[in-house]
Order: sequence, then structure tokens, then C-alpha cells
Amino acid sequence: MATIIDGKALAAKVKENVKKEAESLARRPGLAVILVGNNPASRVYVTSKEKDCAECGFLSEEYALPEETTQEELISLIRELNGRADIDGILCQLPLPDGIDEEAVLMAISPEKDVDGFHPMNMGALLVGKEGFLPCTPYGIMEMLEEYGIDPKGKRCVVIGRSNIVGKPMALLLLQKHGTVTICHSRTQNLAEICRQADILVAAVGKLHMVTADMIKPGAVVIDVAMNRNEAGKLCGDVDYAEAEKIASAITPVPGGVGPMTRAMLMKNTLLAAQKHQA
Ligand code: NAP
Repeated sequence: MATIIDGKALAAKVKENVKKEAESLARRPGLAVILVGNNPASRVYVTSKEKDCAECGFLSEEYALPEETTQEELISLIRELNGRADIDGILCQLPLPDGIDEEAVLMAISPEKDVDGFHPMNMGALLVGKEGFLPCTPYGIMEMLEEYGIDPKGKRCVVIGRSNIVGKPMALLLLQKHGTVTICHSRTQNLAEICRQADILVAAVGKLHMVTADMIKPGAVVIDVAMNRNEAGKLCGDVDYAEAEKIASAITPVPGGVGPMTRAMLMKNTLLAAQKHQA
């Protein structure tokens, strides 16, 4: 049976450390979260981020804007927040309503306050191995691997998914740690065969149970990023967990794996931003 990588427990530890470090600052870290429209899932995420801020002793400000908000209005709010000395991090909850150019909005966030790590400046820093904010999901996964003594060095790593927020930065971080990395996507041929070669397999697609036991090498580490709902409405990942845990050496559950760590790393990034702003 596989070791269960307990993201929930590690996230609590990360947040506890963040809280302690934040207490030593002259001013508490401040995070502004912008929500546009009425997406119920986004509402849940924003509320949980506020809860995390409260746990870590951060200032948190929520801007809930109506669906009909224009791109100009949104960017104007971001510019105002860019100039605020008490706000260290700005997060604009995605997806944005139709008609708003996501890229233009993300570009408007000052790279020094881009605690989601989505600004091209921070993405570029990751690409060339310079310091910058790391996207929270892959950052959290790297923390989990480290905590569980899983070193990507020299390992075959396969990442399924190539989004800018998960797949691509995940691959780059594994590469930085000297993994031999393959990125798969919807046009990949022989996906199962490639996955079977992986010592570390990261699934970030969003398709219920698409990673079946026959795609997993015995003893592999399996990281499931996805958040899907099954027929009963229960949260599930991309991996057929019940079968995979019999084969893998370590595996993240859904829920309780990558999700809580993503939230914790947002707090860590906000702390890092505050430390830089107060240095
Ligand atoms: P995304 O932007 O939709 O990207 C999905 C990726 O999967 C794409 O690169 C796509 O390939 C690839 N794909 C689709 N069908 C495939 C197939 N049959 N075989 C191989 N690859 C396939 O999604 P995302 O934002 O990266 O998120 C991925 C999942 O992680 C979602 O379930 C999301 O909810 C979840 N997520 C969880 C967290 C967390 O904190 N736990 C954070 C972020 C995201 P193409 O590029 O060719 O289209």
C-alpha cells in the first residue's frame, strides 16, 4: 500500500510557520482578493482564502465586483491596489467573465504583488531560474515531495497537462530539481505507455479517473492535482485512487492532497511579498 501524502497536515504546518514569521514583521501582510461575477466555485475559493488570511494573522480585503464590471474598471482597481503600501499581494480570482481579457488583467498586477505567480515576469523568472513568485499549485507539490523525502533528481517525471498555471510550471520546477521531464497533453500519443515510465507522475487534466492503474509504474509517486466531481457530486481527482494506491509508493488523495497545499502556498507567497516590501 502506498504512503498517503497528507497535504492537509502539511498545509497546516506551513500556515503555522507563516503565522509565526508574520508576527515578527513590523506590519502584518496584506492580501487583496478580487472576485468578479457570481461563479459559485470562485466564491468558495475566495472565502477559503479569507479564512486562511485570518488564520495567518494577515490583513485581507475582498473586492466582490458585479458581473458587468468592465475591464477598465477592474484594471483601475488593480492599479489602485498596486499603489497601496498596506497591500502586499493582489489576487484576481479566475475565471473572469466573458469580455474581460484575462491576460491584460494579470499583466496589470504589479509583479512584486503577484502572489499567484501568474505574471509573465514571474513565469519568465521561473523559466530562467531566477527568483520570483512561484505559482501556488506546483510550488505546493514541490513542498510535499520535499517533506516526504522524494527527490526528483535523475527520476523520470511525467506531467499530464500543460496549462500555464499548473502543467508548465510543474514541469519547470521538476526540471530545476534535475528530473528528466516529459509533458503530456491532449494530442499526446501513447499516453499510457509514457506514464508507465514515470517515477513521478503528476496528473493535472480535469478528467475523472483518466489515469488508470495500468498507466502507473509499480512504486511510482503519483500526484493528483485535479478537482473533479463524480456522479454523486463527490470531489475526485484524475487518478483511479482505489487501484492506484495498491501500486504506487506514495500518492496524494483528493481531497486532502494538492488543494490545501495550494492555499497554504498563497499564504507563503504573501508573507514573502510582505518581507520584501518591508526589507
Ligand atoms: P486546463 O487549463 O484545462 O489544462 C488541462 C490540460 O490537460 C491541458 O493541457 C490539456 O491538453 C490536457 N488534457 C486534456 N485532455 C487530455 C487527455 N485526454 N490526455 C492528456 N492530456 C489532456 O486545466 P488546469 O487549470 O491546468 O487544471 C487541471 C486540473 O487541476 C483541473 O481539474 C483543475 O480543477 C485542477 N486544479 C487544481 C488545483 C488545486 O489546488 N488542487 C489548482 C489548479 C487546478 P491541451 O493543452 O492539449 O488542451
